Amino acid sequence: MADSSQYKMLIGGQLVGASEQFDVVNPATEQVIASVPDASQADLDAAIAAARAAFPAWSAKTMDERRAVLNAMSDVILANIDELKRLLTSEQGKPHHEAEGEVIGAGYWLKGAASLDLPRDVVEDSEERRVETRRVPLGVVGAIAPWNFPLILAMFKIGPGLLAGNTMVLKPSPFTPLSTLRVAELIKDVVPAGVLNVITGSDRLGPWLTAHQGIDKISFTGSTATGKRVMESASAGLKRITLELGGNDPAIVMPDVDVAEIAPKLFWAAFNNNGQICIATKRMYIHKDVYEPLRDAIVEYAKTVKVGDGSEQGTQIGPINNRPQYERVKALIADSKEQGHNILLGGDAIEGPGYFIPVTIIDNPPETSRIVQEEQFGPVLPLLKFDDVEDAIARANASEYGLGGSVWGADTDRALSIAERVASGTVWVNETQYLSPVAAFGGRRQSGIGVEGGREGLMEYTAAQTISVKKG
Ligand code: NAD
Repeated sequence: MADSSQYKMLIGGQLVGASEQFDVVNPATEQVIASVPDASQADLDAAIAAARAAFPAWSAKTMDERRAVLNAMSDVILANIDELKRLLTSEQGKPHHEAEGEVIGAGYWLKGAASLDLPRDVVEDSEERRVETRRVPLGVVGAIAPWNFPLILAMFKIGPGLLAGNTMVLKPSPFTPLSTLRVAELIKDVVPAGVLNVITGSDRLGPWLTAHQGIDKISFTGSTATGKRVMESASAGLKRITLELGGNDPAIVMPDVDVAEIAPKLFWAAFNNNGQICIATKRMYIHKDVYEPLRDAIVEYAKTVKVGDGSEQGTQIGPINNRPQYERVKALIADSKEQGHNILLGGDAIEGPGYFIPVTIIDNPPETSRIVQEEQFGPVLPLLKFDDVEDAIARANASEYGLGGSVWGADTDRALSIAERVASGTVWVNETQYLSPVAAFGGRRQSGIGVEGGREGLMEYTAAQTISVKKG
């Protein structure tokens, strides 16, 4: 097939097409909105060769020189917010205001990452020798991003990965490649050729990338099931890995909360980005003293929220991003119905076109039910009642996931003492989903391996090198 796509990959500083393409669909309309290059094995080889060729010069630059490039990339993104936000909404589904937030966040994430530094520790300075441990880059990073926050999650990798002196081959999700390809096109003249390569492909490309001998490290964000496959594939070459995987975040709501004030906050903790956030609240444990009033307030608030096409004025929640995920969420709701759970709101899929599911809230289903135990990653939330906070903590922690969690209460010290006992990588008190480029973020148990963000995240793109100098 001829290369008819207006979208090109970025390989070695050049915009290039591929001999095959695949289609990208707008999830609000199910219309094909673009076709993009479906990289071949040879295209992948070329991208990795370009990254390898760029590595010596890039890694030899000072941190300040690399910082300047990240800041220049950030400025380009921030100068194109309107175009990027529209593109993002068209491929991802999220409303324009959220897409705008993601584009701005992507720009500022690069700036935040650029402010980080690597340690250089003199661990011995005796009469006999001087021993110093410094951090050196790994080489070529293979970066793989998911479809829920395509731009900002790519920046989670680009920022620290490049700052540390690595070069990169980035692969966006086949459901959301457009905004990433457009960013690649926009920044191509501010990044030295080959330092950042962006390739797109169908399902065959991810496994090729993780198995490729020319890749030194994989930084992956996506589902736990795929993360396990990535780890297996990376093991052959003993590649370094960072895995940011799924979550089933609990919220624990104490009886001293102000019901009216907190109901909208708790609603958005679960339904922001249509629930398609790794750190969305996916199980809400509410103390029995406030359970009924808070449940009713959340449901009343939910009735006011507009679900629709993200490009339309006033839309607050868009469609599910893609058909497989739409079917998964529908199956979880169907299971709840079959089990006879009390569905307070929603439940029935909205007539197409578009992958629309109404906001669905379930009243105190059994702890063992699928809707409580599985990551729903969509607009469905189980509300769960607790009596004893020890029981709430135990239930919150009884999960194979350990990504995030939150505790809500007027007594902040009490809430903090509970937060410290939630066995997750990040726990928030009286808010959720605040992430910072200078703070470590990662999952425990099956939510992942390693962290992104902060100095610890930056160090994951490096190896320790100890230099020992004998004196005299
Ligand atoms: P996914 O695992 O299906 O896909 C993620 C990426 O991996 C895509 O680019 C995909 O093309 C690629 N991929 C698929 N199979 C592959 C393979 N065998 N080898 C290599 N790459 C492969 O995930 P998704 O559905 O895009 O994203 C949703 C999931 O991501 C949810 O579970 C969510 O919780 C998780 N997530 C985690 C974080 C985090 O930071 N922990 C952030 C966002 C999303």
